[in-house]
Amino acid sequence: MALKSKRSSAVDTLVEEILARAHKVGRKELEAWKKPQCELRELARLDYVRVMRRTLDYHALCTIIDEVKKIWPELNREQFRPKTPNQLAAISSDLRIHLQAAHYRGPEGMALRGFYVDKAPKVLKHPLIYLNTAHHPGAVSMTFMHEMGHHVTAKVTGRAGHGVHYFFNAGHRNHLGEPLELAADVIASLAAYPQPLARRIFATPWNCGLVARADKLSDQAFAQIRKHACELTGFDFGASLPPGQSFNYLTGMIHYAKLRWALLAEYEL
Ligand SMILES: [Zn+2]
Repeated sequence: MALKSKRSSAVDTLVEEILARAHKVGRKELEAWKKPQCELRELARLDYVRVMRRTLDYHALCTIIDEVKKIWPELNREQFRPKTPNQLAAISSDLRIHLQAAHYRGPEGMALRGFYVDKAPKVLKHPLIYLNTAHHPGAVSMTFMHEMGHHVTAKVTGRAGHGVHYFFNAGHRNHLGEPLELAADVIASLAAYPQPLARRIFATPWNCGLVARADKLSDQAFAQIRKHACELTGFDFGASLPPGQSFNYLTGMIHYAKLRWALLAEYEL
């Protein structure tokens, strides 16, 4: 299928080169990945409205969202459901994106979620997305949406950023300060929590104050987020996961949920 027939040896070589550099480029993220509780604790406390205001320009964000809607008109209206690697390959093929979805067995293992590279003259005619399918299918689909966010952002802004965008499992903290990364996360977040669902989970009492905030998730909101992820992807935290990995996924879950909360609270998206 699309996955195999489109795969050229030049692209394979490029993927291998990029993977081989991952441990150097992501030194900081890999250190953070070994102490997952720190990132979790920090992100759980942070006010995402303030973070988002600082990093993302509202009008640029709207342009990016409009561009994504040319591909998925139902973004933020309907639930984006997890897809198999073959389904993701079909979507990518329609958009003229090289997709490589494979179990990553390198030294960083589960620390790597994937990466995005825009076109590179001579080497790459089309953009490239790599997904580490060693992760839970729900996480793989979220990684895909994040990388699609890069794809659209690159189109809108005319700049893809600096070469390869690695996505490390403990990189959520760093995404908060980087406009291109946070914009990509916004797309993934809107796909995971369309507006009707976001309004249900993050319902705010009318008298909670004039200044929007998205800091500490209520127990009730957290329970709904966990239930939603479980119903949608079959994912839950349990004894089957090593503790570090549970922390990583929990951090990702809280990160995307709080980002979604901030988008609703601040921009009514
Ligand atoms: Zn990224």
